[in-house]
Amino acid sequence: MKRINPPYEPHRIKSVEPIHLLSREEREKKITAANYNIFKLDAADIYIDLLTDSGTTAMSAKQWAALMLGDESYAGAVSFRHFEATVRDIFHKQFVIPCHQGRSAENLMFSTVVKHGQYVLNNTHFDTTKGNTLHKGGIPVDLPCPEAALDEPAPFKGNMDIVKLDDFIREHGADAIAMVMLTITNNSVGGQPVSMENIHAVSDICRKYHIPFYFDCARFAENCYFVKRDEPGYHDKSIAEIAAETFDACDGVLMSAKKDGMANIGGFIALNDEDLYRRLTELMIIVEGFPTYGGLAGRDLEVLAVGLHEAMNLDYLAYRINQVAYFGELIKQAGMPIVEPTGGHAVFIDAGAFLPHIPAEQFPGQSLAVEFYREGGVRVVEIGSLMFGDIDPETGKAQTPPKELVRMALPRRVYTNTHYNYVAEIAAKIVEHKKNLPGYKITRQSPLLRHFTCDLKAVNPKGVTV
Ligand SMILES: *Cc1c(COP(=O)(O)O)cnc(C)c1O
Repeated sequence: MKRINPPYEPHRIKSVEPIHLLSREEREKKITAANYNIFKLDAADIYIDLLTDSGTTAMSAKQWAALMLGDESYAGAVSFRHFEATVRDIFHKQFVIPCHQGRSAENLMFSTVVKHGQYVLNNTHFDTTKGNTLHKGGIPVDLPCPEAALDEPAPFKGNMDIVKLDDFIREHGADAIAMVMLTITNNSVGGQPVSMENIHAVSDICRKYHIPFYFDCARFAENCYFVKRDEPGYHDKSIAEIAAETFDACDGVLMSAKKDGMANIGGFIALNDEDLYRRLTELMIIVEGFPTYGGLAGRDLEVLAVGLHEAMNLDYLAYRINQVAYFGELIKQAGMPIVEPTGGHAVFIDAGAFLPHIPAEQFPGQSLAVEFYREGGVRVVEIGSLMFGDIDPETGKAQTPPKELVRMALPRRVYTNTHYNYVAEIAAKIVEHKKNLPGYKITRQSPLLRHFTCDLKAVNPKGVTV
């Protein structure tokens, strides 16, 4: 077996938070009481929580110190000026609109620019981006590159399909398209990066047809790292230089700063179009807050001003991306098939391939997620037929996602390599008795986003409750 080196941490620990593993008997009780829905577990009953990397970051000593400097003035706070200067510096945009998280930035932007029946094109929409487009009467269209769907590794599986983009614009006309977006990294295809070559190609097409081009840039620093590491010509450039080249190619950005903002809450819009800035801020005063705080406290803005730079630190990024790769390798060696290469923020297990005895309609991913909690107090999340297989309101048919996956997201700077070794040991134990894992059926569900609240029951291969 290949020995894998764990990534070396570019930080030491100053403050600790105790976590506790309940006994197997207690875990059984908790997961039964939660009706086999991991969203209904209390965080205190979980030992290692890999549900998401969003808002779960451990702040640095410098961020905690900055928190005390928060200027809570209603208008024109010093903290806003710090935040604004940081965003201008990194993203090269003049106008900066703080928001309390990514989806509120989406709400403001799409309410202002999307006309009923217009398209929003994206490499792949994140679910709130898709939801906000639909909510404003827009039509979200995903144009992922062909490699995104293949099992073979490729360096930039997050790219947009340039040929399809050009065809779509020529077929529908530029006026039918509200904007083109690139999500970096491409969250919905596994945190896979987008190459600089692809960024320039998308930008050129948008400029040719005069279509606004925006980034959904929650994980921009991770994307810059992949460009530096894997794209010819970028090895000697700094992360700041790569970020500058990235954002000079676009008209503006929307960011959920709960990811590469290294913060627990926050987001923003940044752009150069003054007229659009005015329209956005008129709406924002009604729904989000005054333009110099935007639903955040002054202290949150201070934390972000520090965090956005920390996310671009090369030692940190090398550790971050290598920790994901290291963890992926451990899970593979434990005997679970994963999506390769590992992306920027999570390891995805192919639960459909791992549990071939459980059909998609009995949710193999959910079965595996429940077993991770049972076996080791680990929380992971199903991304498959339970999350996406509900009824499409437009067609009335159950939708079928391409794969039955389980996502293990890595919170930033939170868990040590030893914690990931532990999760891999749990994975190895599950491999030994995988044939005994049951399927599940839903006993109660809500019409939208059912996975958050539904109740489930274990079933045997014939679908009978066990
Ligand atoms: C998290 C995320 C969002 C939504 O942001 P919230 O802060 O959760 O509202 C939008 N786009 C992408 C790519 C994301 O990862």
